[in-house]
Amino acid sequence: MGAGLAGVTTAWYLAKEGHEVVVIDREREVAAVASYSTTGIVAASRAYPWAGGELGRAMRQAALRFDPELWLWGMQHVFLRTGRSYRRLLDAKVRLVRYSQPLLHELAAAIGFPLTRGVLYLYRDGHSLDEASARAGEMRDHGFTVEQLDRAQLSQREPSIDVARLAGALYAPGDEAGDAARFCRELAARARTLGVGFSLQNEILSIEPADGRVRQVVTHRGPIQGDAFVCALGVMDRKLREQLGTQVPVYPVTGYSATLPIVHPERAPRHAGIDESRSVAFAPMGDKLRVTGGAEFAGYATDWHPADVAPLYDTMKQLFPGAVDYTRAEVRACQRPMTPETTPRFGTGRYQNLWFNIGLGHMGFTLAAGAAHITAALVCGRNPAIDLEGLRIRRH
Ligand SMILES: Cc1cc2nc3c(=O)[nH]c(=O)nc-3n(C[C@H](O)[C@H](O)[C@H](O)COP(=O)(O)OP(=O)(O)OC[C@H]3O[C@@H](n4cnc5c(N)ncnc54)[C@H](O)[C@@H]3O)c2cc1C
Repeated sequence: MGAGLAGVTTAWYLAKEGHEVVVIDREREVAAVASYSTTGIVAASRAYPWAGGELGRAMRQAALRFDPELWLWGMQHVFLRTGRSYRRLLDAKVRLVRYSQPLLHELAAAIGFPLTRGVLYLYRDGHSLDEASARAGEMRDHGFTVEQLDRAQLSQREPSIDVARLAGALYAPGDEAGDAARFCRELAARARTLGVGFSLQNEILSIEPADGRVRQVVTHRGPIQGDAFVCALGVMDRKLREQLGTQVPVYPVTGYSATLPIVHPERAPRHAGIDESRSVAFAPMGDKLRVTGGAEFAGYATDWHPADVAPLYDTMKQLFPGAVDYTRAEVRACQRPMTPETTPRFGTGRYQNLWFNIGLGHMGFTLAAGAAHITAALVCGRNPAIDLEGLRIRRH
């Protein structure tokens, strides 16, 4: 269930194990929702739980709205990111990133998908840069390479960038970037050759259990039966979520994504990066530039206003003046499927044959291959080759 990064990668691994697989999604195309809008950064060296900062600000703003679901999510989030919980989450996330990245390389190689290496994390003042570099020590301890660049070194690494407003950057040579929607669609096309079926434009309306198992899912086009079901629905409708037989604490964290035609390639970035002082991410994708930003608790709405993308454009105009055409932007509001811990959840809840691969949050491209590999192992009755401490769905 779900034809985003989580669903398609899981279908691939299951088909490789010899299973007959059908992927159901209400959209017309594969990777049409969150997995379409992503910046596509494989931010392995940034496997921190997403805590405080932008998310904290967004939560304080949204707390005034009457939304019990968000309040519950928020309380769990605040509680879980303190002290020992933070260390546990960091450990789980690093473990998952370490597991996932080599698997992503294997998948990319299998379908001939290009990933570009090296990601820049930009800072506008020296204090934030030093702080971030010190914090990156945690990641260096885990074996990730994170280099600190001053302005001159940054200009050398990324000649098109205007460094006037920047203090410097962190550079992670092992982090990568790629067009995640293209990856997902090319993997889906290859999965079709393994026999995977895609039932698109087909909304899942309900699930029907019997004797502790899911018997069938009911869709717009009628019931679909199966021996095993995988829930990879990203942000789900409340009504459907309530039928899944376990607590699914995924809440949408809305971001904005603009895809802009590059008009002066010599002024456009060669690397993907994040302006950390403004929380704006960018990545070149062929003759286009993807720029994303924003973290809001806007509920389930997916509309957007020019003011939502103005900070994104402003940042790009400062860093890469004249590179892209803003009048021909393709803009979307999109929702990160986020658990309070900001880590995904796997395993089964009440129903023995309903597995979850949910909550990929802000790192779905980074984690998809590992998340799917884990899920396929569980469906096949094996223990995955990674400790799932802190990553399991609650049983009830
Ligand atoms: C602005 C932004 C930038 C991002 N940048 C990055 C990045 O740089 N790096 C990174 O690693 N991650 C990034 N992410 C996160 C990443 O995009 C997500 O984690 C990932 O796409 C989630 O994949 P998914 O398959 O779980 O969800 P989705 O892609 O949303 O897929 C879920 C699918 O389920 C379907 N569905 C839901 N309900 C039903 C139903 N009732 N019936 C039928 N179908 C249904 C939907 O149509 C959808 O296709 C970013 C996210 C955003 C929003």
